[in-house]
Amino acid sequence: MKIYKFGGTSVGSPDRFRALIPIINDGELKIVVLSAMAGTTNELVEISGLFSSGDRAGAENLTQRLRLKYHTVAGELFSDINWSARAHELIDEQFDFIVSLFSRDFSMHNEKRIVARGELISTALLHLLLAEKGIKSMLVPALRFMRIDKDGEPDYFYIRENLKRELAAVTDEKIIITQGFICRNVNGETDNLRRGGSDYSATIIGAALGSGEVQEIQIWTDISGLHNNDPRYVDNTVVVRSLSFNEAAELAYFGAIFFFFFFINPARMKNIPVRLRNTMEPEDEGTLISSASSLVDYKAVAAKDGVIAIRIRSGRMLMAYGFMRRIFEAFEAYKTPIDLITTSEVSVSLIIEDATHLDDILKALNAIGQVEVERDQTIICVVGDFRPDRVGSAPEIFEALNDIPVKMISYGGSENSVSILVNACDKVKALRELNKNLFPEKQ
Ligand code: ASP
Ligand code: MG
Repeated sequence: MKIYKFGGTSVGSPDRFRALIPIINDGELKIVVLSAMAGTTNELVEISGLFSSGDRAGAENLTQRLRLKYHTVAGELFSDINWSARAHELIDEQFDFIVSLFSRDFSMHNEKRIVARGELISTALLHLLLAEKGIKSMLVPALRFMRIDKDGEPDYFYIRENLKRELAAVTDEKIIITQGFICRNVNGETDNLRRGGSDYSATIIGAALGSGEVQEIQIWTDISGLHNNDPRYVDNTVVVRSLSFNEAAELAYFGAIFFFFFFINPARMKNIPVRLRNTMEPEDEGTLISSASSLVDYKAVAAKDGVIAIRIRSGRMLMAYGFMRRIFEAFEAYKTPIDLITTSEVSVSLIIEDATHLDDILKALNAIGQVEVERDQTIICVVGDFRPDRVGSAPEIFEALNDIPVKMISYGGSENSVSILVNACDKVKALRELNKNLFPEKQ
């Protein structure tokens, strides 16, 4: 079977809902994981925010506004009055439930229950819509199988056993619908897998069932997979057809992929391919992320803005040991990840993204050596084949950057990527020049 996950915009309007039907109704057995309609989770978070601050009237107002919005969607979505009546009824049930919570005390659990409504409604609407069209589907509530343990990690044993029990009830249905994002916690209460977590639901389900059962996990959005460069700044970009999990991990950090890489880790663990597809162009095969990606010289170029470069110089580093440890400790003490690092005999340059504790970190570093800071820097990352025995890629990259000050280079840390630090003002030029040099056949 396959797992198809659709995000909030893919169920963002009646038209988008209807557009899912031909995609999922192709006769193949699949689990369809849905997000809430776009914007809904934010509004539910806002509602529980008002509730927690004691503004029950405000919370109720917003709830009624959202209820109306859903009634409008349901009014347009169904052509048959009997089915739309059922949709209106289920919408009212869900919103009545939210309102009923306002007469109780606010608690984290109540917040989680409110925030879960978006996925509960979107899945119920799709289920009804398919039924109206005479297409059989089964709705399997995620709260019957999706569970996290005391550390907030997926409880795979529980998930597998309970999901198998639910799936054993499938007869001739080919479309099994479930909610993304929501789960139960170790106490059995309604909880969620954190914001954006519907992708995570899809890969957790895949990993729980295993590669023997799940051939592919498809993440459907509004763009055709991953481009080999940033289409906002560079013409003639093309979709990258295949990526390894490692390459995807590098690109996800650079924001070139629209989810946290963390979310596809369960698929990588169980070696299940993940395909990124576009609901607006369903015939496009998208980008396949798997362990069997083809090795080509260059796959993609991506940039990350707003990073901070810190250089620490020490007269005493020459032949010294323990210098690096002291530097790393300064970052560790403030739980700040270091994203990139290069060293010489007497100095260390590194990059961080999170400036929350920058002042404290700089104070600690000042006790170790002489420190310089540069903000508003950009890391450019070239993803491709950089295995140690490969020749020729350094000149191709640096020739492209001939007129651009290169401030830091990280080569050799990864077989999949090279990272280069430039001033933010040189970013677009760097992306364009690299595109010309590294993908000349696509110009
Ligand atoms: N609806 C949830 C959110 O907005 C989960 C998701 O869309 O992935 O965060
Ligand atoms: Mg998402």
